[in-house]
Amino acid sequence: MFLIESIQDIEGVEFTAHADITKMTTFRLQSHADLAIVRNPEALTKLLQRLNLFQYPYLVLGLGANQILPQSLQALVINLKFEFNLESVDQFQEEYIFPASINLTNLTSLAVKYGLAGWEVFTGIPATLGGAIYMNAGTALGEIGSLVKEVYLLDKNGLPKTIQINDSSFSYRKNHFVDSGDIIVGAKLFHRGKDEAVGAKIKSYLEYRKTTQPLATRNCGCVFKNPAKGMQAGRLIDQLGLKGFKNGGLQVSLKHANFIENQSTSNWDQFKTLTDTIKWQMNMFYGIEFELEVKIPYH
Ligand SMILES: Cc1cc2nc3c(=O)[nH]c(=O)nc-3n(C[C@H](O)[C@H](O)[C@H](O)COP(=O)(O)OP(=O)(O)OC[C@H]3O[C@@H](n4cnc5c(N)ncnc54)[C@H](O)[C@@H]3O)c2cc1C
Repeated sequence: MFLIESIQDIEGVEFTAHADITKMTTFRLQSHADLAIVRNPEALTKLLQRLNLFQYPYLVLGLGANQILPQSLQALVINLKFEFNLESVDQFQEEYIFPASINLTNLTSLAVKYGLAGWEVFTGIPATLGGAIYMNAGTALGEIGSLVKEVYLLDKNGLPKTIQINDSSFSYRKNHFVDSGDIIVGAKLFHRGKDEAVGAKIKSYLEYRKTTQPLATRNCGCVFKNPAKGMQAGRLIDQLGLKGFKNGGLQVSLKHANFIENQSTSNWDQFKTLTDTIKWQMNMFYGIEFELEVKIPYH
C-alpha cells in the first residue's frame, strides 16, 4: 500500500492497480498485474529508487512478443513509453540514438527511407528496441546485436550505466550485460553504409516470413531455442508429429511447429502443460533437452 501511494505521485508514471494486461502481449494469455507506464527516464529513475526502497519485484514488458505471463503477477509490470519524435530523425547519419521503447517497425521504415545497410536483419520481428536488445533478436539474415554500439541502462538503484558493445556482448538470443534489475533505456545503433537495395531486401524477406510463419495469429514467436546450429526446433517438433497438437485453446501451429497459437481464451497453466509435453517427448524420443526461448517470469 505504501509503495503504491509513493509511486502514484511520480510525474511521468501512470499507475494502474490490478490492470488487465492480457492485450499487452502478442500471445494474449489472460493476465492481471499492477502496471506502471513510464514516460521518460527521469520518471523511471524515481520509480526504481522507490521500488528499491521497498524491495518490490518488477519486470519490464516491451511489446510483450516474447513473454508468457501468469494469470496473476505478483510484481510491478513496467512498460516504457518514452516520448520521442521520429521526425527528428530526418537524415542519413553514421549512428543513431533511440529510446528503448521505440518499435522496430519504426527502425525498418528509417532503414528503407535512408538505405541503412544491415538493418534488414530485424525485418518483421515484433519488438521494442529494448526487448530486441535484451533478447538479441534476429532472423536468418542476422542479429540485432551486430548493429549495436552502446546501450544505456538504469540499474536497480536508478543509477545510469553505459555499456560499450564488443564481440562478447551477445550470443544466440542472449545479451551478456543486462544485470538483474537493470532496465535498458536507449541504445546507439550503427549501420554498414548506404544500400539503395535495402528496401527491396526487407520487402522480399517480409513476404518470405508471411509464407513460413503464422504472423496473423496470436502467438509469442518461436517457443523453443534451436538446440544446436543446423537443428531447427520447429522441424524436430514436426518430426515428432506434434503439429496441430492442442491443449485447451492452444495449438501447435500447422504452419510452423515452433509456434503455439492461442485460438481462444487461454492461460499460463495450459501453456506450461503443452510445452512440458513437447519437452518430455523430445527428450524421450530424441534425447534432446529443449530450452524455452520465451521468457516466463516469476514461475
Ligand atoms: C509473430 C512473432 C514473430 C517473431 N519472430 C521473431 C524472430 O524472427 N526473431 C526473434 O529473435 N524473435 C522473434 N519473435 C520474438 C520477439 O519478437 C522477440 O523476442 C523480441 O525481441 C521481443 O521484444 P519485446 O519488446 O516484445 O520484449 P518482451 O517480450 O516484452 O520482453 C522480452 C524480454 O526482454 C526484457 N525486456 C524488454 N524490454 C526491456 C528493457 N527495456 N530493459 C530490460 N529488459 C527488457 C523483458 O523483461 C523480457 O525478459 C517473434 C514474436 C512473434 C509474436
